[in-house]
Amino acid sequence: MDMAEEPRVRILSTRTIPLNPIRPIYFMHTPDITPEEKQLALETLEEILNIAKVSREIPVVDFGVWRQPNFRNSDGQLVPHMSVDWYVNKWLNQQRRQVNVSEGATQLLFDPWNEKQPHYDVILTAQDLYTPDTNFVVGIAHKRRGTITSVKRFRDIKDKRMERETKKQELFHEVGHVFGLPNESRGFDLEYSLGAHCTNNCAIRQGLYVPRDWVNFVNDRQRTGQVYCDPCTKDLRTYFRK
Ligand SMILES: [Zn+2]
Ligand SMILES: [Zn+2]
Repeated sequence: MDMAEEPRVRILSTRTIPLNPIRPIYFMHTPDITPEEKQLALETLEEILNIAKVSREIPVVDFGVWRQPNFRNSDGQLVPHMSVDWYVNKWLNQQRRQVNVSEGATQLLFDPWNEKQPHYDVILTAQDLYTPDTNFVVGIAHKRRGTITSVKRFRDIKDKRMERETKKQELFHEVGHVFGLPNESRGFDLEYSLGAHCTNNCAIRQGLYVPRDWVNFVNDRQRTGQVYCDPCTKDLRTYFRK
C-alpha cells in the first residue's frame, strides 16, 4: 500500500504555546539533506511568507545542521534538545528504519528553547517518517508550532523538475498547517480526512497517494498560478493579523 496517512489529532496541552503569531522561523535539517534541497526549502519558506505578507516581520533563521558543542555525552549518546540529530533520530525505529514523528513532534511542543525564545520550527530530513497507525507519512505539522518534513518519498521521482516541485508542494502543505490552515471556523470547503483539509485547488488538500497526488497538485498549482486557494490565502493573512 502506497498510502501516507496523516496522524489524527492527539490530545496535547497547548497551554505553553505562545500565541503571538509574529515569531521567527528556525530552519534546521539533518546531514542527509543536500545543499539544493536546503536552498529549495529556504526559497519555499520565503514564498509562503510573501504570500502571507509577513516577509518583513518574520525572519527565517538558518541553523543548518544544528548541533550544540556538547550534543553528545561522553558515551556518545545524543543529549536531549541539543542537536537536530536528537530531534529527529531520537525516535528512529531500528526495525522499521523509519522515524516515529508522532513522538518527535510531541517533543516540539515541550521544547525548552521555545520556552526561552518563541519561534516556529521547520525541520527537514531525508529520513523516512511514520506514525504508529501508518506505514509512512511525508511530514507532520503542529499548528502554531512547527513541522518535521521529509523529502525521502519524493527523491525517486524521475523528472528532476517534478522532484523539486513536489518537495516544495509538501512544504507549502505542512507549513500552511503550521500557520493555521485550513481555518476550520470558516465552515466551508473543508473535509475531515485524517485531520482538517481544504477541498479546493490548494496546497492544503489532502494527498494520500505519494507521489501521485502530489504530482497532480503541482500540475494544478502551475496551471492556476496559485499556491493556496482564495479562502486559505485570506485565512493565512488573517492568522498573522490577530
Ligand atoms: Zn495535511
Ligand atoms: Zn485552500
